[in-house]
Amino acid sequence: MTFCTRNHYEESVAIRDVKLKAAEEGFKTIIDKVIPARCMTEAKAAVVGGGPAGLAAAYFLQGYGIGTTIFERENEPGGVVRHVIPDFRIGSSAIERDIEIVKNTGAEFIMGTKISSVDELKEKGYKYIVIASGAWKHGELDIKSEKRVNALDFLASYKKDEKKIHLGRNVAVIGGGNTAMDAARAAKRLRGVKKVSIVYRRTAMFMPAEEEELRLAMEDGVIFRELLQPISHEEGKLLCSVMTLGERDASGRRSPIPTGETVMIPADTLIEAVGENVDSDLFTDNNIFVDHKGRAITCRKSYETNIKGVYVAGDARCGPRTVVEAIADARRVADHIAFREGLCKSNDLQKNKRDTDRLRLKKGKLVFCESPEKESERCLECGVLCENCVDVCPNRANISVHVAGSSSPQIIHIDDLCNECGNCSTFCPWTGAPYKDKFTYFSREKDLNESKNSGFFDMGNGRFKVRLEGKVFTSSLDPSDKKLPKEVAEMIKAARNSIPI
Ligand code: SF4
Ligand code: SF4
Repeated sequence: MTFCTRNHYEESVAIRDVKLKAAEEGFKTIIDKVIPARCMTEAKAAVVGGGPAGLAAAYFLQGYGIGTTIFERENEPGGVVRHVIPDFRIGSSAIERDIEIVKNTGAEFIMGTKISSVDELKEKGYKYIVIASGAWKHGELDIKSEKRVNALDFLASYKKDEKKIHLGRNVAVIGGGNTAMDAARAAKRLRGVKKVSIVYRRTAMFMPAEEEELRLAMEDGVIFRELLQPISHEEGKLLCSVMTLGERDASGRRSPIPTGETVMIPADTLIEAVGENVDSDLFTDNNIFVDHKGRAITCRKSYETNIKGVYVAGDARCGPRTVVEAIADARRVADHIAFREGLCKSNDLQKNKRDTDRLRLKKGKLVFCESPEKESERCLECGVLCENCVDVCPNRANISVHVAGSSSPQIIHIDDLCNECGNCSTFCPWTGAPYKDKFTYFSREKDLNESKNSGFFDMGNGRFKVRLEGKVFTSSLDPSDKKLPKEVAEMIKAARNSIPI
């Protein structure tokens, strides 16, 4: 999600303030209450990696009463947060406190142990294995350079002993992600460094770093050099090709195109921050299916791999992301494991129905921010119920329907009513385009043929023309008609009950 739905009413939920308040003042209140959970099952879980995702997975699993062991290759847990993220971003005491909370749950920590075999863990009696080993593989710049250092290596050295680092007067950081911002801000703090530039081939607007991180880097005096693509680095100078922005590429960002011009930037050292990747060896060595990027292919809902009981969470699943996202992954994995063990009723349809009713009542009311303690009450819980595209469509071309077997309402788009104004896209907190992405009801066969949307046309006599993932076919709603997945058949049934077809 990219922005808060509350913003459409009065002002966004001040999530960061709430989290900061909880992190700074909540520790003493909760630490004594976190006690080893009673084991609720004989099944044990092993977590590979003691970074944010691994620690969070152990915390949630222990909370469910599932005995969990964390295996970490380093001698201390904390992963990228402890070993890479600079102290000026997260202090060691905050990391220690989080680890203490996890230890208090009764989770076992085995440090200095590298895990390379899932089968060995299974033989040791672990029924569930959560791979949370992070994304540590360095991306590399394809240019010649007289002095370069990888951003993760640089940040790790900076954290160990910044006095031993000598980068010269001018430093150029190549990349536009959060790691690039951290590296630039750390370099700016080094003795002897006068100028730090971030060199990026698109404009700052398209940098993958969080907006907050960009702002902090600017405040620290880091120079942003946009639309530059490094070519070579010698004699303290970085030669760059000047770029311009062209059409949008597959990532949705406008692609950089060379203008034919070049510029020189003073740079004694280059710091490469061109993306960290997942090391896929652990997956391939254990017969876990991977995609073309070497990332494990996992179930969209549970993050379970093709090997039953083996899950992937955090950066190891999707590459570098935020700590919050790593924790969200861990939560999902733990919920699924607990559900398998009969310890969690997350599929409780009745509860979700109650949530839906409660959340709809929250909509349309102005509630201003009073204090961090009360702030969470303003949250509309868009992850449970969004329906923004329904609320903002001037033509009522998106409807919310209850679909049998689905725990939350689903959106059906009505092709006939849509004039492609794009409003639903503007207001979608998931940066979606509901009028293109949502399962669509077509009232004319010709419209289905001319559209690219997944959806259906009612041909009569119980037959439907359906487009799914680009493929068009005809089908009935009969379960014996294997072409139509059950959940899609239920969507069509729900649409027929809600739209006067
Ligand atoms: S879930 Fe809450 S905080 Fe998040 S976007 Fe919705 S209203 Fe804002
Ligand atoms: S694009 Fe279509 S569905 Fe979206 S708000 Fe406009 S009319 Fe409604």
